[in-house]
Amino acid sequence: MPQPFYITTPIYYVNDVPHVGHAYTTIAADVQARWHRLLGHEVFFLTGLDEHGQKVQQAAAKAGISPQEHCDRLTLQFQTLWQKLGISNDGFIRTTDARHQAVVQRFLQELYDNQLIYRAEYTGWYCTFDERFWTEKDVNDGRCPDCQRPVEQLSESNYFFRMSQFQQRLLDHLEANPTFIRPESRRNEVAGFLQKPLEDLSISRPKSRLSWGIELPFDADYVTYVWFDALVNYMSALEYLPSQPSVERLWPATVHLVGKDILTTHAVYWSTMLMALEVPLPHTIFAHGWWTVDGEKMSKSRGNVLDPHAMVDQFGTDAFRYFLLREVPFGQDGDFAFESFIGRINSDLANGLGNLLSRTITLIQRFSDGNVPAPVASASTELETELQTTAESLLHDHLPTHLRSDRIAFNRALEAIWGLVQLGNQYIDKTAPWVLAKDPACSARLQTVLFHAAETLRFLCLATYPFMPDTAREMARQLGLPYNFSQALLKDPIAWGDGGSGTTVVKGKALFPRVDAPATPSPAQPQAGASASSPTDENSRINIQDFQKVELKVAKILTAERVPKSNKLLKLQVDLGTEQRQIVAGIGKKYGPEDVVGKTIVVVANLKPAKLMGVESQGMVLAAGDEDVEGLVTFKDVDPQPGTKVK
Ligand SMILES: [Zn+2]
Repeated sequence: MPQPFYITTPIYYVNDVPHVGHAYTTIAADVQARWHRLLGHEVFFLTGLDEHGQKVQQAAAKAGISPQEHCDRLTLQFQTLWQKLGISNDGFIRTTDARHQAVVQRFLQELYDNQLIYRAEYTGWYCTFDERFWTEKDVNDGRCPDCQRPVEQLSESNYFFRMSQFQQRLLDHLEANPTFIRPESRRNEVAGFLQKPLEDLSISRPKSRLSWGIELPFDADYVTYVWFDALVNYMSALEYLPSQPSVERLWPATVHLVGKDILTTHAVYWSTMLMALEVPLPHTIFAHGWWTVDGEKMSKSRGNVLDPHAMVDQFGTDAFRYFLLREVPFGQDGDFAFESFIGRINSDLANGLGNLLSRTITLIQRFSDGNVPAPVASASTELETELQTTAESLLHDHLPTHLRSDRIAFNRALEAIWGLVQLGNQYIDKTAPWVLAKDPACSARLQTVLFHAAETLRFLCLATYPFMPDTAREMARQLGLPYNFSQALLKDPIAWGDGGSGTTVVKGKALFPRVDAPATPSPAQPQAGASASSPTDENSRINIQDFQKVELKVAKILTAERVPKSNKLLKLQVDLGTEQRQIVAGIGKKYGPEDVVGKTIVVVANLKPAKLMGVESQGMVLAAGDEDVEGLVTFKDVDPQPGTKVK
């Protein structure tokens, strides 16, 4: 049996509502947890809340409620968000739980008994906001170097943890374990920090100024410093939250995911605490970066704090999960630009994955009665071999490499998945099943192509599941695959050719509807075949005046080129008799630019201009087809002049 996979997020401090930073770490941990469950590993995924400390006490006082009531309210907010984001945590820990508090007290007592905690008088500059002392050299003009608020000189008796004793051991550990702190730049940062003498850590606060905390077991006048309480959660949880509680089985943690701002507390405080308790250190502490919004730091005063609830309501859970992990290498800072978010939804998700699924299902329904046909070996070509090699190396090589918890590279895993999406779309373009279907002699080839297209999607379904669980489930449903994703589907290697044939596909809704850029007030899509529904009931019929509002004209296509990053859109320059227009048409999967130049077609000439993938379109071409274009509307017996009215 492989070692159980134990992953944690930080426990989030409940002085404020959840924001995109919390969502980011938690989604990252969720992807890791789902991936390992698919591989058949025992997984324990822990998240939770840090509920003690000065700021919580202050926030509660401000709201006129008890600290516990404040914590309960915030807990609900976090849990609601995790549900909305599809987070599959196995445990949710709250530091106000008596069972956690008992473990903290036990650890404190043990260190105290071993003379690793001592009492001393301390004088220093205290910042109430940051709940910490500063030394004389840290303070600038009587202000806190962190938050710039005034500091006050405070002298108090406190308890200290002999952290300094463990400096060399920690340096040795860092040296001997290259993947202990990730990424490399953060490891260097910690090593740099440890070049300066490490001081002992004050681990108590007098109750006279802070009552909201865990009482020291050996002195009832003090509560525990919030970090000494919070960090212990990673071990205390194992005593009562897993279905079979066991510290022995689950510790040490495989990976702690943390934001870069709390790396020192984890790499130094937590590690030395564990050393003092004679407990092994976690395998990896992985620090990720911060998000800015449109190039600016998020802050309440700027009013640009990203609310994950709003993102999900507007764009969907899976699109949000995808963007956060695709856009920026995990470990680096990232910028949340709405333009790139919408660009990725439209190109990667709608035109890429969504399109591959919908056209494959349509083709199987049209040419194979909705059942995935069996392939014919003699009708296979190198195109199928290329698909197979790419798909198998995706599942069995790229994903295992990029998702390793000591080198997490979500963006590269997603790049590899989208490599297969692109190959799948190109495969359908190149093999052109709609052409094969016209020739009975090609039926073996047609069957083979449809099978391999479905097989590509089966692999994509498994590969996307950790990142986009709802999407994977919907893909499996439409493909007729009997997958239960809570099972270890990737425990044994997935072989190309084992799936699919004989299953019945189901047409479903588009996986990812295209999103209009917010600046464009939802323009009608100048795309062929926008509506396939035939108006049959009285209410949906229009009168002649309605129809006459639409100005249809004959046009001749002068030039055509593909819109970059789109496999669907062609940019056309057309002659309208009296003028030349640019029209973007969604016919690129059926036609290449060379196929349409010189064609005489019909366009809607009085449509409001709109932008598609950033390219202006001044009209719309008429074409037949539902989701996939079957053909442009052209003229057979006559060749009317451009600009001629069509009625
Ligand atoms: Zn401060």
